[in-house]
Amino acid sequence: MLTLGIETSCDETAAAVLEDGVNLRSNVIASQHDIHSKYGGIVPELAGRSHIDKIHFIIREALQQAEVSLDEIDLIAVTQGPGLVGSLLVGLNTAKGLAYATQKPMIGVNHLEGHLLAIFLQEPVEFPFVGLIVSGGHTDLYRVNGFGDYQVLGRSRDDAAGESFDKVAKMLGWGYPGGPIVEARAREGDANAHAFPRAWLEKGSLDFSFSGLKTAVRTAIAKRGGSHGKGLSDADIAAGFQDAVVEVLITKALMACEQQGLKRLVLTGGVAANGYLRQRLREAAQPRNVTCHVPKPILCTDNAAMIACAGYFRFQHAPPEASELLRLDAHANFTV
Ligand code: ATP
Ligand code: MG
Ligand code: FE
Repeated sequence: MLTLGIETSCDETAAAVLEDGVNLRSNVIASQHDIHSKYGGIVPELAGRSHIDKIHFIIREALQQAEVSLDEIDLIAVTQGPGLVGSLLVGLNTAKGLAYATQKPMIGVNHLEGHLLAIFLQEPVEFPFVGLIVSGGHTDLYRVNGFGDYQVLGRSRDDAAGESFDKVAKMLGWGYPGGPIVEARAREGDANAHAFPRAWLEKGSLDFSFSGLKTAVRTAIAKRGGSHGKGLSDADIAAGFQDAVVEVLITKALMACEQQGLKRLVLTGGVAANGYLRQRLREAAQPRNVTCHVPKPILCTDNAAMIACAGYFRFQHAPPEASELLRLDAHANFTV
C-alpha cells in the first residue's frame, strides 16, 4: 500500500511516499529558513505564501523520486494541525483537491502524532513506551500504549524547548532556526562558565518550564562587560543554556520511565536532532537499562514521511467515513 504524505504546518513544505506505512520511497523537504532567518522567527503570512508557491512542485518531486504516479497512490495523508492555520490550509486544500480528483481516500493527521511515530520509519518499537516530543512548539511527555492511544504525562507550562533555542539565538543575533546554530556555537563554549537555572517544578512533576532560563540568558547577556559576567563569551552562554535544557529534558524523560515502570524511551521532534542531547541521553539511559530510540535528525525535524506513517496507521485502525473528508478543517491547536 502506497501512502502520499503532505506536510505544511509550519515552515517546511514537504511531501513523501511510503510503502506499507514504514518503508520510505521518497522524502522531499523544502525549508523556508532563508525567508524567515532575517526576522529571527517565522512570519506566518510569508510562510503561507511560500507553501503555495512550492507545494505542487514538492509533491511532483516526491512522486518522481518514489517512481510512482498519483494513480498508484492508495492513501493521501495530510497534516491537519497543530500549526499556522494559513500554512495548514495550503496542504489540506491541496490534499482535498488531489483526493477529490482521483477519488482516493484521504486522512487528516495530527502533526504531533507524526513526530511521535516517526521512529517507526527507522525501527520498530514495542508498546508501551515513553515518548518525549521536543519541538518548536511543544515539549510533551507521553505514555504511548499503542497506535492512537496516548496519555499525557507532562508538558511545558510556558516556552517549548525549541522555542527557547530560537529565542536565545535571536538574543545573540544568530538568525532562525536557533537550534542548529546554538548547538554549533556551544561546542566552542564552557557549559560551566555561568550557572544557568534548571526548573524542576514540584517534586515528581513531569512538566517543564523554560521561560526562567530564557530570562537568565537575557540577564547574563545584559550583565556582560560588568564585573558579574566578565569573560562570558557567546559560546559560553550557548553551552550553558544548552546544558540546562538538556539536563532537564533527560532527567524528566528518565523519571517518566521510572514512574511508569517502562524501559523504552522515544525522543523525537526538531530538538531531538541536537547531537549533544542525543549523546547525553544515551549516557544517562544506559546505566538505568533504558533503551533509547531516536530517529535520525532528518526524521526529527518536520517532514511528510512521519505524516504518511501516522496517517497509514490511523487509517488501518480507524478509517474515516468518506463523507468526513471534505469537511476536514485545519486546527491551529490540536492536541494528541
Ligand atoms: P511543532 O512540531 O511543535 O508544531 P515545529 O514543527 O516548528 O513545531 P520542529 O520542526 O519539529 O518544530 O522543530 C523545529 C525546532 O527544532 C526549532 O525550534 C529548532 O530550533 C529546533 N531544532 C532544530 N535542530 C536543532 C538542534 N540541532 N538543536 C536544538 N534545537 C534544534
Ligand atoms: Mg520548521
Ligand atoms: Fe514539528
